[in-house]
Amino acid sequence: MASYTNYVMAQSLEEAYALNQKKSAVIVAGNMWLRMCGLRRQTAIDLSKLGLDAIEETQDAFIVGSMTSLRALETHEALNRETGGAFREALAPIVGTQFRRTATVGGSVYARFGFSDVSALLLALDAQVELYKRGVVPLEEYQRETWDRDILTHVRIPKGRRAGIASVRLSKTDFPVLVCAASTDGETLRLVMGARPARAMVVADGLRLTADLQDWEALAGSVPLGTNLRASEAYRRKIAPVLMQRAVQACLGGNEDDH
Ligand SMILES: Cc1cc2nc3c(=O)[nH]c(=O)nc-3n(C[C@H](O)[C@H](O)[C@H](O)COP(=O)(O)OP(=O)(O)OC[C@H]3O[C@@H](n4cnc5c(N)ncnc54)[C@H](O)[C@@H]3O)c2cc1C
Repeated sequence: MASYTNYVMAQSLEEAYALNQKKSAVIVAGNMWLRMCGLRRQTAIDLSKLGLDAIEETQDAFIVGSMTSLRALETHEALNRETGGAFREALAPIVGTQFRRTATVGGSVYARFGFSDVSALLLALDAQVELYKRGVVPLEEYQRETWDRDILTHVRIPKGRRAGIASVRLSKTDFPVLVCAASTDGETLRLVMGARPARAMVVADGLRLTADLQDWEALAGSVPLGTNLRASEAYRRKIAPVLMQRAVQACLGGNEDDH
């Protein structure tokens, strides 16, 4: 159980940012991860009153506030229409509906969990993050960085890509053993592997739909994979090409494969 001496409902991003510069403070979003960590901090900073829980659609992107719940992403009609239902598919396996009503996109992206289905899909869609002080940064870059004390305010998901995702779990609702997310702009493919078990990374980009879609074994062979308590590197290597193929089929709107 986490414990905090002071609980501050931030009234502005500037206030939240200023408070968060102290190492004794922590941003609290859905609190689903934090509360499991047994963390003790002087000050918890709650962002709930800052209007960061909306999904705005513009001409060329969806702008998702960091306090938006995973459930809101999963059930957002326009976002799912644009991406071929990818958010519905990607988020449904995460724990349970009530959990996803509370866990946020900001908490997921900031934490850069290796096992994150959320980050894998957002990376495949070439999302960007908006940070209060630093401004807009490609998620691909943010994902490689270490945790800092800036505040993630929004995730920007560009329009124009369909996506698909495939994962293996030892049991339903468990963390994934391996995740593959694919997206296409209609001409080329982008592939991401997550739960390697390290953080999700882009493993291929610009693959031509017509010419480059055959040797999943070779491509999977070049992905850095490892071992953790859920699975060995050898097991991950075995299932990686199958997940790649499934994610690509899902993103191209194909039928279930026969693996
Ligand atoms: C039991 C369990 C199972 C899970 N299984 C999966 C799974 O299978 N797949 C998956 O993808 N995810 C999974 N998750 C992760 C989950 O989806 C969320 O990512 C996680 O709970 C964090 O979101 P939160 O809103 O609860 O963040 P919190 O727990 O509140 O915060 C997490 C971290 O992010 C920081 N933070 C939060 N918001 C911001 C912000 N706006 N700016 C800066 N820092 C911020 C916090 O300070 C903290 O360090 C699981 C989590 C749990 C607890």
